[in-house]
Amino acid sequence: MTRIVYINGDFVPESDAKVSIFDRGFLFSDAVYEVTAVLNGKLLENAGHLARLAHSCAELKLHLPVTLARLEEIQQELIARNQLREGAVYLQLSRGSTGDREFDFPPAGVAPTLVLFTQARAVITHAKAVNGIKVITLPDIRWRRRDIKVVGLLAPCLAKEYAHSQGADDAFLVEDGLVTEGSACNAWIVTAQGTLVTRPLSNDILHGITRRSLLELASRHAIPFEELAFSVEEAYAAREAFISSATTFIWPVVAIDGKAIGDGSPGPVTRALREIYVAQALMATA
Ligand code: PLP
Repeated sequence: MTRIVYINGDFVPESDAKVSIFDRGFLFSDAVYEVTAVLNGKLLENAGHLARLAHSCAELKLHLPVTLARLEEIQQELIARNQLREGAVYLQLSRGSTGDREFDFPPAGVAPTLVLFTQARAVITHAKAVNGIKVITLPDIRWRRRDIKVVGLLAPCLAKEYAHSQGADDAFLVEDGLVTEGSACNAWIVTAQGTLVTRPLSNDILHGITRRSLLELASRHAIPFEELAFSVEEAYAAREAFISSATTFIWPVVAIDGKAIGDGSPGPVTRALREIYVAQALMATA
């Protein structure tokens, strides 16, 4: 089945979707994006993702050409047209093209480029969710506005590539000795006292939609938590560690820099939290 994608008002086969070589997303990474998980053919936590898109656009003075309600209709139509049951919808908005390369923002009237496409992938049943992942720590070389979900993702690509070359699955990024987040996820530990710890919201990290839901679930299920930056040493000494994101939900971290976390297998708090999150996600998309 040919994938149907959305581009600037049209639903077309993916091979027919064309963007100018002068598009500012291509030339300057002048574009924002969102990824919403799809379960049972339905969008998960989409209100949070669309609200964050609005934040990214506002911070960059990037004009959204359609309302958030219309965006959700487009997402739903793409899911239907591609008969997607489980996976994700990717959405990207760039500042468009003036037909040349100029640093200055285009004059009013230049249309932004809006593209969306679906990706089929396993979200609920995934080997890494069961077995966990190994991460290495790397310096966080990204720009200072990580709260804006921009498509300039070369640093995370390099981090993942280097992690793979070292036999690891992913990287925890580190600044001033403290973990900021994962290459494309939020980072968490469970201390020896059983407290969940994740970095507080600031421009240093992306404000994860899954992160927020997990904190709400922790609160509801009386799991103690603290929003506090943790060091690499604290991560090594943690009883458990895990990552969160829209398409992984929670994946346990079983080793950091080759050192086993806890007994080197996914911990009970991590597993319980994933189970609670999955149950809630299945209920929300039933
Ligand atoms: N942090 C970064 C750098 C990310 O790229 C992502 C997701 O892509 C996240 C955190 C997790 O955010 P969310 O839970 O909204 O997917």
